[in-house]
Amino acid sequence: MLCEVCEVKEAVSRCRMCSRYVCEDHLGPDGLCSICREVLCEVCHQRLSINKCLICGKLVCRSCSVELQPAIRVCRECYSKLLSDESYSKFRGYLRRFIKGKSLIINHE
Ligand SMILES: [Zn+2]
Ligand SMILES: [Zn+2]
Ligand SMILES: [Zn+2]
Ligand SMILES: [Zn+2]
Repeated sequence: MLCEVCEVKEAVSRCRMCSRYVCEDHLGPDGLCSICREVLCEVCHQRLSINKCLICGKLVCRSCSVELQPAIRVCRECYSKLLSDESYSKFRGYLRRFIKGKSLIINHE
């Protein structure tokens, strides 16, 4: 069985996320293949990211981010700063352009 990433080396294991067969070069210490590692949430490093934080640009998964609008997410860290940190006030105006006619906080979890 060849590694499904490079298709050159013999696979040694399967990625625990996508179940691809991968060689030792393409398997990380966390049991994930190089493809999954690239799209992993940059906050928890556990789950696949589904979007980028609108503010800091980090890849975030569903549980590490707050959905302001469909397809518009911010990570939890930026979200709490948005609410409390005055240096983030410029982003509030920025976000309001996306969230017309609604309060900034929509899906409060
Ligand atoms: Zn490989
Ligand atoms: Zn994988
Ligand atoms: Zn996460
Ligand atoms: Zn962020």
